[in-house]
Amino acid sequence: MFKTSLTNPDEFTITYELVPGRGSGGKRIDRLLDFAEKAKMDGRIKALSVTDNPGGNPALAPVAIGSELQLIGIEPLIHFSLKDKNRNQVESHIFLYQRLQMLSLLVLGGDFPKSGYYGQAKPVFDLDSIQTLRLMQDMEHGCYRHRLHTKDSSSSISALFKGCVVSPFKTTEAEQVWQYAKLLYKVRAGADFIITQLGFEMTKYQEMMTFCRQHSIEQPVLANIFIPSLPVARAMAAGKIPGVVVSKELPTVMEQEADRGDRKARLLRAAAMIRTIRELGYQGVHIGGNELRFADIKFIMDQVEQTSQKQLNDRVLHFQSGNGWYLYKPVRAGQNNLCQTPLHPGTKPGAAGLHQLIHHLLFSRQTVSGRLFKKFCLFCAKDKIRTRTLQTAEQWIKRLLFNCRMCGDCTLAESTYLCPQSGCPKRLVNGPCGGSLHGFCEVFPDRHCFWVRVYNRLEQNATITSLSSSPALPPKNWALEKTSAWINYFKKQ
Ligand code: SF4
Repeated sequence: MFKTSLTNPDEFTITYELVPGRGSGGKRIDRLLDFAEKAKMDGRIKALSVTDNPGGNPALAPVAIGSELQLIGIEPLIHFSLKDKNRNQVESHIFLYQRLQMLSLLVLGGDFPKSGYYGQAKPVFDLDSIQTLRLMQDMEHGCYRHRLHTKDSSSSISALFKGCVVSPFKTTEAEQVWQYAKLLYKVRAGADFIITQLGFEMTKYQEMMTFCRQHSIEQPVLANIFIPSLPVARAMAAGKIPGVVVSKELPTVMEQEADRGDRKARLLRAAAMIRTIRELGYQGVHIGGNELRFADIKFIMDQVEQTSQKQLNDRVLHFQSGNGWYLYKPVRAGQNNLCQTPLHPGTKPGAAGLHQLIHHLLFSRQTVSGRLFKKFCLFCAKDKIRTRTLQTAEQWIKRLLFNCRMCGDCTLAESTYLCPQSGCPKRLVNGPCGGSLHGFCEVFPDRHCFWVRVYNRLEQNATITSLSSSPALPPKNWALEKTSAWINYFKKQ
């Protein structure tokens, strides 16, 4: 039903996000199920999404609520997050959801794990969202076993409806360019639909649709309409929710509304946003929020259907997120025609050029030194002592230069000779997560996001298309950890 609705250009699809907390029952779960029953009776919400350990905290697994939603007769849209699953767990969950006929999955990396039993959980992030979409696509095509060099395709699955996320709300060029480049990757990896990060800046929602049109992205896009309570709006404006960029004006406006006793204000604002979103060409909205009952969402949906945009327009819609960065700007001030803003990658190249030269000299087949180095590494590989000596030399050199962690499956050249294994807490190799804020890392807010640093070292002619044009890196082979990446590289050739 969700897929049919979302892929029908004449329909405007509404989904709603349920957030089960820590625990297997209680009032919170009762409220979610009550919401689901009412939504089923109403019929306008096409799927209820169920979060997967949101905020990096342990919670009831989405499959539990998903099963109850199926019994109620409303489709679950399962958040498939990667922070707590290694690739085998990812695969077994795909089989699980397939078995249970929960075919709509929203693939996302997820927030960095927070404190759990005896302290902070170990972050997994074995696959990123691009690699997971690719795995799902391969499984659908029955060809994923071939990557393990066997011809067994008996474990193939039938088609999933796979979603991905993107944030159009980043405030710096580097973050925003990466978000769009990753979106192109995700679409190529088989994403069937897209859901945006939540936000309140209409210019950015518009930018997202312009980008999709410019890049011929045909997948339907749902805008994330979040309806915060005042404390949550304050937390979002203070940058306390990973990846969420919200203007300080929003809580100020909400405080004024609270002073006036205007309890419906946040609902009317959501209705006004949804009307605008529909006019921008989105195929639907993904509504979420806190302290909401079904009656509130029904009120919003009624307002969207019954109230004119003019009546809704006086609700503040456009909360600009400070000195943001925009991919498009008017050709001339005051005009509607847009042109793309010039990009400025490579502003702090550091030693990237020197490392690139050394890489070329040692690893290129076109150079004599590269051919000799290959012979030398393969010669060392034939004997245990020589292998260990080379490995120790590699470890010293690369630890000194790159803070190398000896993963044995080196991708330094793909990230401007900065090491994602030591530089990015999520160890992402195909671009950033969505958690950064104003260029700083979600996990270590006093450090620049690793991928912002990579952007600053890129060649100056890099574009969004060029960033996403090379094949995405496959998952790392952890069997190679603590072995010589030099030998492994030449053995693969
Ligand atoms: S360095 Fe960037 S990509 Fe890595 S966790 Fe931090 S914000 Fe995310």
